[in-house]
Amino acid sequence: MAEPAGDNGGPALRDVPTTPLHGWVRQLFEALGSSADEARLTADHLIGANLAGHDSHGVGMIPTYVDACHAGHLSLNREIDVIVDTGAMLVVDGGMGIGQSVARQAMTLAIERANAHGIALLGLRNAHHIGRIGHWAEMAIEAGLVGIHFTNAMTTTPVVAPHGGIDARFVTNPFTVGIPRADGEPILLDFATSAIAHGKARVAMNAGRAVPEGSVIDAAGRPTTDPRVLFDEPGGALRTFAEHKGHALAIVCELLGAALTGGVTGRDANLPDRPGIVNNMLAIVFDPARLGTGPSFEREATGFVDWVRSSRLDAIGEALGGVLMPGEPERRSRAARARHLPLDDSTLAQLAAAAEAVNARRGSGVPLPDPRSLIG
Ligand code: NAD
Repeated sequence: MAEPAGDNGGPALRDVPTTPLHGWVRQLFEALGSSADEARLTADHLIGANLAGHDSHGVGMIPTYVDACHAGHLSLNREIDVIVDTGAMLVVDGGMGIGQSVARQAMTLAIERANAHGIALLGLRNAHHIGRIGHWAEMAIEAGLVGIHFTNAMTTTPVVAPHGGIDARFVTNPFTVGIPRADGEPILLDFATSAIAHGKARVAMNAGRAVPEGSVIDAAGRPTTDPRVLFDEPGGALRTFAEHKGHALAIVCELLGAALTGGVTGRDANLPDRPGIVNNMLAIVFDPARLGTGPSFEREATGFVDWVRSSRLDAIGEALGGVLMPGEPERRSRAARARHLPLDDSTLAQLAAAAEAVNARRGSGVPLPDPRSLIG
């Protein structure tokens, strides 16, 4: 079944059944060379991003992962190397392993240490794309822990211009905070420091849609709403969110996430020459129960959330059905998408091409089907 095309007449969205798509993604990663466990974790993460409404970090990333693997930049079935271990402080190296697996290993260790010591500081360096960072904060939340994550990203070319500049100098460096609550839904702040995530520009381009005003400049530094300027040569750039504020937070993510963990920053001398995405992340994970403030935290958190929600609404609030809390849009999206995910024709064609590339490289075995065959 097709959803209506965008207002600007962009391609229609197809309703792809979620469970068969998850099975197809697992099959693809197994065919690429992942263990069954790694393939399942990767499918859980990518489909989970689509379910959360972040198509930028969902199955649409698969062609990038396949290219990076075939180029020898992303490695499969990697165990993390523990480089520094003082008990509460850890630095681990992901060896360019697939991020969905190495970040899970790293976060599992950090959660163990936060449980043992009350707080853990984790530096994860040299991981391939670790996807939707909210996924890692949710791991901490599920363990009853607060997670604060500063992440840098690096690709062959930077994609975000600094505030006051027109040349791309860094990537979309996300900042993420997860706060568990005993008496209510967790709070989950998780966003790129660019005005929009780069993958959202890819999704918009594939769907033939414009990007929001103020989010993109062309190669000459002129504002535009055409996402294609980010993918054509010479390339334009994304702008940071909230002017100097997103710019300043992106710099902090780069220095804490990459420089301090022993990774490298995305400056010209360090840019990779092969396709793929490098992520480095500094995470602070702690047990709020150890602060002994549980009852007053719950009272204040609930009271404050209610107070904020009690504001009179403007047009945005009316359209949203109220003032939302960070993490709420993702919960709404999961409820709406549980059975079917909307994917546009360009993304489906790119997934089919990725499957063909895996089939061609593998040579033997049952070929992966075209994902469009999943649509009833
Ligand atoms: P976004 O602009 O959609 O913002 C999402 C955040 O804002 C969430 O915390 C959400 O709950 C909150 N939010 C949205 N509407 C809200 C409202 N009305 N009221 C209150 N809170 C609201 O996110 P984005 O910048 O497009 O980032 C998307 C994803 O991309 C994130 O999951 C991020 O981790 C990921 N990302 C990853 C990388 C990487 O290198 N791995 C790089 C950039 C972004």
